[in-house]
Amino acid sequence: MSRTFMPNISTLEELKSLQLEGLKWTVRHAYENSPFYRQRLQKAGISPEGINSLDDLIRLPFTTADDLREGYPFPLRAVGFDRIVRIHASSGTTGKRKVLCYTQKDIDDWANMFARCYEMAGLSAEDRVQIAVGYGLWTAGVGFQLGCERHGAMAVPVGPGNTEMHCEMLVDVQSTVFCATASMALLMGEEVHKRNLREQIALRKVILGAERHSESMDRRIKELLGVEHVFDIPGLTELYGPGTGLDCGKHEGIHYWADYYILEIIDPETLEPVQPGELGEMVVTSLRKEGAPLIRYRTRDLTRAIPQPCSCGNLLPMHDRILGRSDDMFIVRAVNIYPGQIDHVLSQIAEIGSEFQVHLERREDGRDYLILKVERRPRYKPQDNQAIASRVSQDIRKHILVSAEVEVLDHGSLPRTERKSKRVFDHRD
Ligand code: ZN
Repeated sequence: MSRTFMPNISTLEELKSLQLEGLKWTVRHAYENSPFYRQRLQKAGISPEGINSLDDLIRLPFTTADDLREGYPFPLRAVGFDRIVRIHASSGTTGKRKVLCYTQKDIDDWANMFARCYEMAGLSAEDRVQIAVGYGLWTAGVGFQLGCERHGAMAVPVGPGNTEMHCEMLVDVQSTVFCATASMALLMGEEVHKRNLREQIALRKVILGAERHSESMDRRIKELLGVEHVFDIPGLTELYGPGTGLDCGKHEGIHYWADYYILEIIDPETLEPVQPGELGEMVVTSLRKEGAPLIRYRTRDLTRAIPQPCSCGNLLPMHDRILGRSDDMFIVRAVNIYPGQIDHVLSQIAEIGSEFQVHLERREDGRDYLILKVERRPRYKPQDNQAIASRVSQDIRKHILVSAEVEVLDHGSLPRTERKSKRVFDHRD
């Protein structure tokens, strides 16, 4: 019988009591050892003695990426430098990197969390895990390897790129699991196909991290590599790194490690919790993190909680895939919308192309209007515009619950740019 990395709980009540214990410990640890948190908590009128139930969580102040940048290079630090054994960093989109420090216990906890991912994906000690993500200051490669070694499978640490060496290892070492970003996995799929290696490799599972990817990309990877499962591994450097959850073989959602952190989903505008199952921003509170604990850290990632339990029977709760960034979200008539949702609806409609623009206006009646500009595909004619517009508007209403005025334009009329095009134009106020 091999070792299990699953939590030793048999009811949700037991999970909640673990969480309360971790929350109390985290608030006390942060208050007593991090000048940043002590000041933040004192300002909010909170002392460690005031945390007596999980309901007290929402009284705690939020922590943001700006707080991390202001504390550069050792933000949120809550232990002495003598206890820090490693740092990792993620590239901030603006300004300084986010640097996080780890104690030996943090590294061990992370290894256990990541080993649980491999366990949930059904790996045994006989599996051979080929790692195609980057090593270095970021958390990816070292996390995948750490978890693999802790789990007991064999790590084949090739790193990103280098398709030549990857093909060689897939054939010679007979790797059974491939860990990569979605685009790297796709690239390898095409390479294996091109070199006609399908019959010579032994891959059964692919684990995808870091990058948002669509279901059609998953299907393509499965086809090209001939694997049974493609798993999705979320994670962020602030919360150890990748490996904070995984979808199980049922693929009904991503189980997350609620015994290591509490996940809240909030409305990024009002900062209030959303209804169960509604879209919102992920906010995480770590329960055991020593080096740089997180108290209600706003991740900016959008997802929804999946309220129903998984048919696999595992008690660990689930969230959906990461569906976008909260900075991109906008609100029309009390409905939270993000561009990815519109993109998804439009991509199902054959008559239009992939470019679109959203314009938001507030008119004299004081109400908000959403104007959606789309492009007709070349094989359709201007006289089709009206039919196309009503189809688009119906589908948007059905899936996003908001009415849109749709303008159908000639193919090629919307601007294309090399970088991700700006799609949302808010003309209100
Ligand atoms: Zn499950």
